[in-house]
Amino acid sequence: MQQPTAERVLSIFRELNQIPRPSHHEGRVADYLCQFAQRLHLAYERDAENCVVIRKPATPGYESSDPIVLLNHMDMVCVGMADPLNTPIEAYVDNGWMKARGTSLGADNGIGLSMALAVLESDSIEHPALEVITTTNEEDGMTGAAQLSKDFLRGRKVINLDSEDYDTITTGAAGACLQFHRIPIQHTCWVGVHVWWPCILCWRLDSSFSIILASR
Ligand SMILES: [Zn+2]
Repeated sequence: MQQPTAERVLSIFRELNQIPRPSHHEGRVADYLCQFAQRLHLAYERDAENCVVIRKPATPGYESSDPIVLLNHMDMVCVGMADPLNTPIEAYVDNGWMKARGTSLGADNGIGLSMALAVLESDSIEHPALEVITTTNEEDGMTGAAQLSKDFLRGRKVINLDSEDYDTITTGAAGACLQFHRIPIQHTCWVGVHVWWPCILCWRLDSSFSIILASR
């Protein structure tokens, strides 16, 4: 058994980064997660969208506590890669910072997933029943999470390891809503210059949000 040290988390992260895992192409990393569970003799499920949940029983004394869900996603954004389906991430350390050569590092959410896997293989942490859920296509529509069946997870208390703040533990997960609107716009040409400024106003949004506007 391994201890969940920083070195072990980073070694799992390096393993993950050998597996190309752009959004919509998560089959190989889902295989890796299933093999990880098999090696530890832990129960797991994989659904049709390659979302994987690995279940670890409670340690003695915590059997009656509520299960805890550790939430991650397995896909990543492969910035600037010519062949993201076949290119492992080449990481290096520069002045104390881990970086990737020529693309994004995949720390979102590879490092959170590595922490969850290190906890799964640890025998030195006391915990309630754990469910490590790893969804697919988080970066391009959250379609893996959106189609999860209700019984895929038993726990209702979530620690989100896809958090962005260094010193914060995030419970729960933000919702997401993807909508497409077709708005007829009159296009005007002034003295040969084509200019138009669409403006979309949003109100009554009660959590942090981002809007991506795409125009054609
Ligand atoms: Zn993320």
